[in-house]
This record gives sequence, structure tokens and C-alpha cells, in this order.
Amino acid sequence: MRFLITGGAGFIGSHLAESLLKRGDEVLLMDDLSTGSMENIRHLKSFDRMHYFLDSIENRQLLAELVDEADVIFHLAAAVGVRLIVESPVRTIETNVNGTQLVLDAACKKRKLVFTASTSEVYGKNTNVPFREDADLVLGPTTKSRWSYAASKALDEFLALSYWKEKKQPVIVARLFNTVGPRQTGRYGMVMPNFVGQALEGAPITVYGTGQQSRCFCDVRDAVEAISRLVATDRAVGQVVNIGSDHEITIEELARLVKERTGSSSPITYIPYDQAYEPGFEDMQRRVPSLEKLEDLTGFRPNTSLPEIVDRVAAYFGKKREMVSAPRQVASAGD
Ligand code: UDP
Repeated sequence: MRFLITGGAGFIGSHLAESLLKRGDEVLLMDDLSTGSMENIRHLKSFDRMHYFLDSIENRQLLAELVDEADVIFHLAAAVGVRLIVESPVRTIETNVNGTQLVLDAACKKRKLVFTASTSEVYGKNTNVPFREDADLVLGPTTKSRWSYAASKALDEFLALSYWKEKKQPVIVARLFNTVGPRQTGRYGMVMPNFVGQALEGAPITVYGTGQQSRCFCDVRDAVEAISRLVATDRAVGQVVNIGSDHEITIEELARLVKERTGSSSPITYIPYDQAYEPGFEDMQRRVPSLEKLEDLTGFRPNTSLPEIVDRVAAYFGKKREMVSAPRQVASAGD
């Protein structure tokens, strides 16, 4: 099969590309490197079934050509990370809404299946966990930038589902819940790379708010497995499906776990939300997916344990540090 991945040099996109290439598929990868990076896909260049295009999906002609060549499209290109969203809301809304529209429009001309990545953020302030896919979305006011991400992704979902209903364009919408693993960068404020990076440097581990808010962290390999199974499942077409782990942990407990697994002497510090993000910032207190639908459709549910995930992320950070401190040796030995 030949797969097009938009945002293929990003964290999840690069893992998906790797998994498809390793099982023998061909990958067309598009990325404008706005949040993705060459570093994420350098090791995949040796596959002659991998073709990468460093361009934005706003290059409609290229997008149309690649859609033409692909059997299935994974649309992962998006503005991600709460920090980026709070700092650049215009870019977030434009990238997420326009990008999805362009991909759906191009795919619709050839009726190619589009898998589109949405987010658990769309459940907003709903407190009725676990979140089922048919639950209400409870967003905060438009004056708070954070909610622009959820709103833009919710609009993407409406758009995708409307293409399916009105034009019979096949789509699958997946809501990803706090996917973590090697290659995720702390640059956009995500908690796992932040905590592990801080712990390894001996810097204070920065818990925002009280640390009593909770999340469920899903290993990127499990997310990729779920994604691959969904696109191979006819019954998933036209559906919205949660992808994540349902093992819940508070952020304070996560800080302690990271400290313990890395053997770090970092202190754990508490930073008010106002300072961490912006005045009046609203967080989601709990976020737990119902995995019933994913399991029913694919027979799979993510199960990598959190200590194992933390160890893998720490190993990745360690390797990265070695590369920075000894770039020549690593380049000659590894490339
Ligand atoms: N968080 C934290 N310290 C950090 C980064 C994030 O305490 O250095 C908190 C953040 O406020 C949120 C949780 O960790 O409650 C998860 O944040 P992330 O940005 O990773 O994902 P979110 O679930 O908010 O989309």
C-alpha cells in the first residue's frame, strides 16, 4: 500500500511512517517543518520506499499529486501543544481548519480514505469520565485562547463527517489522548518531555497548578498500532474513535514517577497557571477515554505501562544529549 502522511516529520507522523515502512509499505510524507523536524525522519531516509516533500499542504498542486498517488491519507499536520495555542492562536486556527479543508477537498476528488487526527481536547471541561465519543463537548469562552484549539479541531471533525455524509468521501476521525514517547519535544509545553528533560538536567520539575489534574498517557507505538488497525477496518469509516490509554495519573504523581525512574535529585516545584500560561488560564481537570469503541472496532487497546514509557523517553533524551556533546563521532558511526 502507498500512504500519504501530512505532518509526517512530526512526533506521531514519524513513528507512523516508521511502522509502515518497516512492514513493507510505501510512504509519501509531507511536512513544512513548522513543528516537525528532519531529525525525526533522518533514520528513515535509507528506505527507498520513503519519499518526503518538505512543503506545506497549502501547496495544493503538490498535495493533489500526492493524494493521487496514495491509497490512504493520514492527515496529521496541525498546530499542537497548549503553549503554542496560547501564544499563536491565529496560526492554530488557520492551520487546523484550512489544512483539513484542503486535504478533504483533494481526497474527495478521488474518494481516497482520509484518517484525520483530532484531539481529546475537544471534550473540554466535560467532567463525566470516561469520555465516550458521543459525549457533549464543553468548551470555555472564546476570550480564552486555549479553547481555540478544541474549537478548531471540532470544526475539523464536523467538516470530515460532513464530507462523509454529503459527498460519500470516506473518513475516519480519531481523538488522540496525550500521546507520548521518544521524539516528542518539550518546546510546545507538553508535560512528559518537559518533566523528563528537567529531571535529567537536575532542574526543578515544574508542576502547573496544584498537580491534582490528571491525564492518561498513551505510548506512541500503541497509538500507531491503533491508527493502522482503524484504517484497515471498514466499519471505522464515518466514525469518531478515541485513541489513548485509560490508566489515569495526576500530574503530581507523574512528577514523582519521573523523578524516581530517572534517579533525579530535581526538586518538584509548583507554578500557578497564570504564570505558566496566561492570566485566567483554564485547565482540564480529568481526561480519560472510553476505549470501548476502539476495542470493538480493532480488537486492540493500548497497554504499555507508564514506567516503561518514562524509561523510553528518558533513554531518548540521554541519546540526544550524547549526540549534542559528541556530534562528529555519532555522525560517522551512525549515518
Ligand atoms: N503541565 C505541567 N508542567 C509542565 C507542562 C504541563 O504541570 O511543564 C501540565 C498541564 O498544565 C496539564 C498537563 O500537565 O495539566 C498536561 O499538559 P500537556 O500540555 O502535556 O497536555 P494537555 O493535556 O494539556 O493537552
